Amino acid sequence: MRVVVTGAAGFIGYHLCDRLLRDDHQVIGIDDLSTGQQRNLDALATRDAFTSVKQDISTSVAVDGPVDLIYNMACPASPVDFESKALHILDVCSRGTRNMLELAREKRASFLHASTSECYGDPREHPQKESYWGHVNPIGLRSPYDEGKRFAEALVMTFYRRFEVNTHLVRIFNTYGPRMRSGDGRLLPNLINQAIRGEPLTVYGDGRQTRSFCYVTDLVDGIVRLMAADFHEPVNVGSDEELTILEVAERIIEITESKSEIVFQPLPQDDPVRRRPDLSRAREVLGWAPTIKTSEGFRRTVEYFKTVAVR
Ligand code: UDP
Repeated sequence: MRVVVTGAAGFIGYHLCDRLLRDDHQVIGIDDLSTGQQRNLDALATRDAFTSVKQDISTSVAVDGPVDLIYNMACPASPVDFESKALHILDVCSRGTRNMLELAREKRASFLHASTSECYGDPREHPQKESYWGHVNPIGLRSPYDEGKRFAEALVMTFYRRFEVNTHLVRIFNTYGPRMRSGDGRLLPNLINQAIRGEPLTVYGDGRQTRSFCYVTDLVDGIVRLMAADFHEPVNVGSDEELTILEVAERIIEITESKSEIVFQPLPQDDPVRRRPDLSRAREVLGWAPTIKTSEGFRRTVEYFKTVAVR
């Protein structure tokens, strides 16, 4: 098939393109490189079936010829971007998603949108089911991303209901693995780089907040299955292996055999206290469950960051 992936230079976008190319699809990767990495595109470009287009989807999008599938993965996604790239995030979630949905309608392509566990905000329900409407601060520092992604879900459902576009919504929970961006600001790149360099590991708040960490190839498998499913409401895809941030820091120190200590820094505004997906729907609709435990996945990710660090 001929497949368009937006955000192809990003962490998840790269792994999705890699999987689609392995499955013998033609892939057109769109990225504006605002947070994606050229090195990811360079690695994909070694395959003949991959074409790269530098484009901000919130301005305009044109793709020649037929398109069968569109995976809309583009959007800055690290909490450190939520303030500095706020307007870009809002544009990508609104105009960008609209542009990609119009393209899907024009090409009669199936469409999958990368939504997020951030739709649940700082959740009052635990674990989070897709039926939960969330607890989001609409004017806080995270709101450009949270509300942007919620608005995008409304756009996607409107194109499904009004124009019968074959849409899919995946709510992605914390994902990690090789090719995360080093300066990304998120937990695992920060802690792993700090441990490798022998610097103190920065834990925000008291470190008792939790996240559930999914290895990226598991996530991509869930996403590919969802695109093929006859299901149009949101589906959580992530891991239900829930850890405190302090536990993660201790595990990284152990794996890297680092002598670093842990230092505590202020908790960012509206940082969710607990997060874990209810995966019942993914199991039922997709026949999917994560397979790679953090014991293995963290180790592989540390190995990756060690090779990047020496380059
Ligand atoms: N965090 C931390 N130290 C860091 C980076 C993040 O303690 O150097 C915490 C952050 O406050 C949050 C969790 O780790 O509670 C996960 O943060 P991340 O930025 O990876 O993504 P989020 O799940 O908040 O979107």
